[in-house]
Amino acid sequence: MAIPSIADAHCDTLMLLVGDRPKGKSLTETLPGHLDLERLLTAGVGLQFFALFTYPSNGPEVNLRRILEMIAQFHRSVEASGGRLYPVLEAADVAPQGGRVGGLLAVEGMSAIGGSIEILEVLHRLGVRSAMLTWNERNSLADGAMDQESSGGLSAEGKRVIAAMQRLKMALDVSHLGERGFWDLLEISEGPVLASHSNVRALRNHPRNLTDEQIKALAARGGVIGMNFYTEFLVDDGQATLGHLLRHIRHIADLVGPQHVGLGSDFDGISSAPDRLQTVADYPNLREALDAAGFTAEEAAGILGGNLRHALETILG
Ligand SMILES: [Zn+2]
Repeated sequence: MAIPSIADAHCDTLMLLVGDRPKGKSLTETLPGHLDLERLLTAGVGLQFFALFTYPSNGPEVNLRRILEMIAQFHRSVEASGGRLYPVLEAADVAPQGGRVGGLLAVEGMSAIGGSIEILEVLHRLGVRSAMLTWNERNSLADGAMDQESSGGLSAEGKRVIAAMQRLKMALDVSHLGERGFWDLLEISEGPVLASHSNVRALRNHPRNLTDEQIKALAARGGVIGMNFYTEFLVDDGQATLGHLLRHIRHIADLVGPQHVGLGSDFDGISSAPDRLQTVADYPNLREALDAAGFTAEEAAGILGGNLRHALETILG
């Protein structure tokens, strides 16, 4: 079995376990998508963020319910796993543990929560340790990456939520946030900030990707950018290859250093991944590609997991 060194800042697998026609009951089952507990363990993944994603158009009542159902499915999976899956709740949970996967719950879009600090606190008690204010949409907290018509940043309510998240030692995640909100968030917060699943705007001009100025600002704060495997965020058109992903990694490494690069696969949330990186079972191909691209063993280990762990230890500490 591979060393459990890989850390991934984003997957949508919990979505498969809820809804009208769930595709499985537990992460411990063989699931139809990009990953499940068994495949994570075999691939050497030791830390996996599990997004609590909901479509804003469902409305807050449905979505809060969905979020709670996904959290329940995560904890059921932990119980069914015989200790092989555990929740990442504090800094001590971040280091690799042989034969185990640490799962970190992350809210993707807070339209269902709005400015309720009470609900945020309850979610924190249920194990949530990371959140994004929006998923692309404009809501009462901020403008999302795909709705920047008004160039709105963080609202007063959004700023109160960020302050509460900092008090609770939760990770602040700027993936999906609009550009002005990005700068607002950096201005009112302290410590490392994550962009859990975003790529390089200079290589692929998409609102979900980060400009060089944003990358520099995240690096200055000790932040990490999780590289998204979605074809749409890697290339202008056509099918992305592992080579395209490496170009995004190389760009950030050259700009601010490889210690700010991580993984944010977006597995089970994307319809097209690079060739030779189709599921977690293909991570050995990524290891090889990093080596072939001239990254040292230490740099590659950081990109594959060490860098994200380092930032998380500071955030949760
Ligand atoms: Zn996303």
